[in-house]
Amino acid sequence: MARGLQKEQAQAKSREKMAKAAGGKSQLSTRAAGLKISCPACKAPMSDYKNFKDHFEAKHPKLPLPAEGSVLPA
Ligand SMILES: [Zn+2]
Repeated sequence: MARGLQKEQAQAKSREKMAKAAGGKSQLSTRAAGLKISCPACKAPMSDYKNFKDHFEAKHPKLPLPAEGSVLPA
């Protein structure tokens, strides 16, 4: 009985994992396609804020990092 329960839990877990992976992936590509931002300092195009933040911290460490809402299209 314990074995059956474990199997069920494992199946539920893998289903959850797969749904999460699929959902996360499609959401990510939608975001990448829909949101285009550019660095205010050097106009380099960025696919999302995380990308932009990494770029900004690496390339413009002396400038204050703009807030997410100020670089993303409204
Ligand atoms: Zn830049």
